[in-house]
Order: sequence, then C-alpha cells, then structure tokens
Amino acid sequence: MSHTAELIAVGTELLLGNIANTNAQTLSQSLSALGVNVFWHTVVGDNPNRLREALDIARRRADILITTGGLGPTYDDLTKQTVCEAFGKPLILHPGILEDIRVFYESALHVPMPENNTQQAQLPEGCTVFDNPVGTAPGCAFECDGVHVLMLPGPPHEMETMLRRHVEPYLRKLSHEVIVSQDIMTFGMGESSVDELLHEKMAHMTNPTLATYAKPCEVRLRATAKAATEDAARAMLAPVWEMVCETLGDIVYSGDGGGLADCCHGHLIRRGFTLATAESCTGGLVAERMTAIPGASGVYRGGVVSYWTSVKADLLHVPQNLLDTYSPVSAECARAMAEGIRNLTGADLGVSVTGTAGPDPDERGVPVGIVYIGLAAPEGTFCRALDLGRRRRDRIQGLAANHAFDVVRRYLQGLPIEQI
Ligand code: ATP
Repeated sequence: MSHTAELIAVGTELLLGNIANTNAQTLSQSLSALGVNVFWHTVVGDNPNRLREALDIARRRADILITTGGLGPTYDDLTKQTVCEAFGKPLILHPGILEDIRVFYESALHVPMPENNTQQAQLPEGCTVFDNPVGTAPGCAFECDGVHVLMLPGPPHEMETMLRRHVEPYLRKLSHEVIVSQDIMTFGMGESSVDELLHEKMAHMTNPTLATYAKPCEVRLRATAKAATEDAARAMLAPVWEMVCETLGDIVYSGDGGGLADCCHGHLIRRGFTLATAESCTGGLVAERMTAIPGASGVYRGGVVSYWTSVKADLLHVPQNLLDTYSPVSAECARAMAEGIRNLTGADLGVSVTGTAGPDPDERGVPVGIVYIGLAAPEGTFCRALDLGRRRRDRIQGLAANHAFDVVRRYLQGLPIEQI
C-alpha cells in the first residue's frame, strides 16, 4: 500500500519570509525516494489554533503527518502540546530523556540545563522516541487511527540527522516494498531536447519510472524502481540505465548522481593524471568546485585567476602580441592560458576559461556569453568555443565552469572535445 504524507512546518519566521522552508525540501526528497507520496506542504505560524486547524485538515487527507519545528523549550514552542490535544494523547515525562538533555547541556554546551528544558523530555504516551544527538529536542512518532504522526525539530541539521537515523528506517518499516533510485547525470543537451528523445519511453513507464530534473546547466534523470528486495529493484534499474545511455550517447557522464567535478576527479585518479586551472570569467569557480572534493590534492595541482590581461601575460606567459592581435576573450588566448598553467604547475592537463560573463560586452566589444575553454594536454592543445547567449552573469559562469569540467572528462574518456 502506498502512503500519502503531509508536511507541516511550524514557525512564524517561515511565514514572514525570514527563512526558507528547507526542511520541507529535504523531507520531500527523502520521502519520494522512499515511495511515499507527498501531496501537501503546509506552513503555520507559532499559533496553536491554526496549527490545530492544519492538523485536523491534514489527518483527513494523509496517513503520514510530519511536523517540523516548535519542539523547543520556549513558550511559543507548542507543537507537541497541540498535536497531543488533537490526537488525544497525554504528554508523559521521560526521566531518561531528561537526563540525556542535562548531559548534552553539561558536556556539549558546558552550561547547566535551564529548567524550562524539562518540557522537552515530555513526549506523547506510547510514542517511539527519536533521540537528537546534535541538539536537545528529541523527536517522536506515534500512530493514531491509522495515521502516523512524526514530530521533528526545526533546526535543519538536527532535523536531517534525525531523518537519516530514525525517520527513514521508521517509514521503511511501513512498506513491504523497497524503493531504489538511480540518478543519471548528463551534460551537453538542454532539458527539452533530453525530454524529446526520451519522452515516448518515459511516458509508458510505470515501474521503474524515469523523470528529468533540470539542474542549473545540466540535466539529471532519476530512475526509480519498486520491488520486494533491494537487489530486485536494482536489477530493474539496469535496463533503464542501458536504454538511457543508448539513447543519449556520450552526454551521459555518471550513473551515481555525482556532479561533473566528481566525475573528472574519478577519471583523473583512474588515468593517473594531474590537473591545473587558469580562469578568467569564472573567477576560480572551477578551482573551487575541484577543491570541494575530499582528496582533490591527489590530482589537482592549483590554479591562477588571471582576471587582468596583465596577469594573463605576466603569470601565465600569454604572449603580449597574441593579446594585442586577438583578444583576451579568444580561442588563441584560451589555448595560451591552458598551456601557460600547464607549464607553470607541471600538471598533465591545464584547463582554461576565458569569456564575457556580462552584463555588458567586454572592452573590445566581445558579446555577452562568448566563452572559450582551452585544454593543454600531452598530445596538444584543444579549444571549445561557446556562445552561451545573454544569460545572467552567474549562469554564464556556472555553465562555463561545467564546460571546463566536461572538456576535461571527455579528454580523459577519449571522446571528441571541441564540439558537443
Ligand atoms: P529549538 O529547540 O532550537 O527551539 P525547535 O524544534 O523549536 O528547535 P524552531 O524553534 O521552530 O525549532 O526553529 C529553530 C530554528 O530552526 C529556526 O530559527 C530556523 O532557523 C530553523 N528552522 C525551523 N523550521 C525550519 C524549516 N522548516 N526550514 C528551515 N529551517 C527551519
């Protein structure tokens, strides 16, 4: 039987727009992977009457209610009391939990526990307790008239820790089916083109299913299978992966949900290559994404943000006559930057980015969106020329950085580099 959930976020800050409801996003992603339908997101302020109304509506249309927030020790933290009133459950003091909260205060926060935290140790009678190793408010779950009610703390890191440790296992037990998803990553084609190629097949799939999600600058496909066991679900996903690879070809770069930088990192390790970067319009974005990967130092030597023309000439040794004849935003300059950083660092591969991120054309009149990616490799230097159009500055930068990684991964996979 499939379950239907409603998420109820409690907090006036959310309604005022002071904070975004990121807990709903995190929970929805997790629930959809577990095969639970999330049909409603509700947000209510710290007001017991309106929370009560929201609970009364939610229990009529969903069989899993998950609240976040309002479990703190202050007077406006009313979730537990209101939920218990709505479902006719008394609140019971748990001495063991009270002791845990006291110990958390003393050993993690180095202060005595304030007395009003005692109410955090009061939980609905007969509930399953979710401990909170990174905060004080425990969460909990109970069932009443076929409805499962789960209460989780508001702070996102506490909520997420509890989600992984307790909520996901709790929800898994409610279903006899296992849901397994696989994220297939593609780069080089827009969402509508990917959809056009796969639409016919996707439309007829029920189990497994396949859906497209456009991330900034790339398209992720999620294949999801339901089966009695994890192995059976994985076996159902294998032909989907093959079909996607066959249909989309070499724009598919990963089947494990990792991004382009992770993919390059893996290929660099496998090939025993090192990389260095020379960036102009991306201002270090390629380097930042590379160094965000744990263990990047094994393959990434370093980079130069050569924003000024003089830095391209002085540090990367891009010849002055080349800069005068062409432009800092040119294929010639991209190639010379890539060669320059390769020589400077001794890396096997030097990748460069130069372009006009906008909002105005550069001083030589190169239009917004013109970007060149250079790649200096042992067998020669390559260049990919791009016209990314009049997009927003940050979009052009993000897309240019992705192209830099795509050029590197295609080189490492022995695929054509310059055109995609
Ligand atoms: P505490 O014990 O810290 O009081 P709590 O369970 O009572 O936790 P709230 O007081 O409602 O939670 O929220 C604490 C903080 O958590 C908020 O100030 C906000 O920064 C964050 N928060 C709450 N709800 C959400 C949400 N839905 N999405 C993102 N952040 C949230």
